[in-house]
Amino acid sequence: MSDALRRAESILRAACGERVRTGFPLAPLTSFRIGGPAALYLEPESERDLVAAGEAVRQADLPVVVIGKGSNILVADRGFEGLVLRLGRGYRWAARSGDRITAGGSMPLPALAGVALSHALTGLEFGVAIPASFGGAIRMNAGAHGRELAEVVESVDLFELGTQAARVVPVAEAGFRYRNADLAADAVVVAGTVRLASADTSEIRRLMEEAREWRRRTQPLAEPNCGSVFKNPPGDHAARLIEEAGGKGLSVGGAAVSAKHANFIVAAEGAKASDVVELVTKVQDLVAARSGVHLEPEVHLVGHFDLAPR
Ligand SMILES: Cc1cc2nc3c(=O)[nH]c(=O)nc-3n(C[C@H](O)[C@H](O)[C@H](O)COP(=O)(O)OP(=O)(O)OC[C@H]3O[C@@H](n4cnc5c(N)ncnc54)[C@H](O)[C@@H]3O)c2cc1C
Repeated sequence: MSDALRRAESILRAACGERVRTGFPLAPLTSFRIGGPAALYLEPESERDLVAAGEAVRQADLPVVVIGKGSNILVADRGFEGLVLRLGRGYRWAARSGDRITAGGSMPLPALAGVALSHALTGLEFGVAIPASFGGAIRMNAGAHGRELAEVVESVDLFELGTQAARVVPVAEAGFRYRNADLAADAVVVAGTVRLASADTSEIRRLMEEAREWRRRTQPLAEPNCGSVFKNPPGDHAARLIEEAGGKGLSVGGAAVSAKHANFIVAAEGAKASDVVELVTKVQDLVAARSGVHLEPEVHLVGHFDLAPR
């Protein structure tokens, strides 16, 4: 363990005790189920924990990454040589006030959609089958069926590790765009508020069932994956471009382009993160050669990779 890691560990232990873990396996915390361990790992339960994390990162000059449900990340085979934070149960809550719901960052998005349904509020049906935490969904501006989180989010509650300060960012300042938001790399989304509208619960249920059924029909849900690997280029679909270029079924080691959905990469048992990245670059090259389009990855890489996507 490096000096920086040792220093960070001792600062974290003083505040969080045995909850600080070293060499903690990350693969089970990701939907890809691959990748190495976190050198340091903590599930913050309160702002006190986040203050300690900020202090550790600042004093030890240590890289830090926040993960949610791990459904849009690929962790390097060697893992992450820094601190990984994953908001704990203390951040799993939701409270309704009129047509607004405020929820903590570790609240699963499908559960939040369920809370909205229980209050006869419409606007979150699209998220009922997106395997995200609310914090990760805000960071990614997750969306489906032509809707996205930016349409309903009113404000985002951040804790900035660098300054160890909490602040509330109104939606206009969050810089939401397609599958992205302008939030500082050291900003933890600890909560958010959505504004919804009243509706008939039977109609909300119908939209949710439609969303679930569409997924079962179109996505390889039984195999480990990270959802869409590439962002859709303007006016087109990454899956269409990959199929047209003959990428469906392409594989590297244990990673293969899904036969069910060309913008999904599925990982067989024993697949390595390096297989996935190599396949990502192969697909990018194939599509660029066929149609001249550069496919930008949607999946976020965690840790060091010898080969990087283009
Ligand atoms: C089967 C499947 C289907 C999917 N379908 C969709 C879909 O329809 N639409 C869609 O948009 N996405 C989809 N995804 C991708 C994924 O669910 C979304 O990107 C989701 O928003 C990721 O949330 P997460 O909590 O898993 O974040 P993670 O994957 O853990 O992290 C994603 C990014 O957000 C950051 N992050 C996570 N939590 C926080 C936090 N609290 N504060 C600050 N930063 C944070 C991470 O550092 C990382 O950069 C799918 C994935 C799978 C596996």
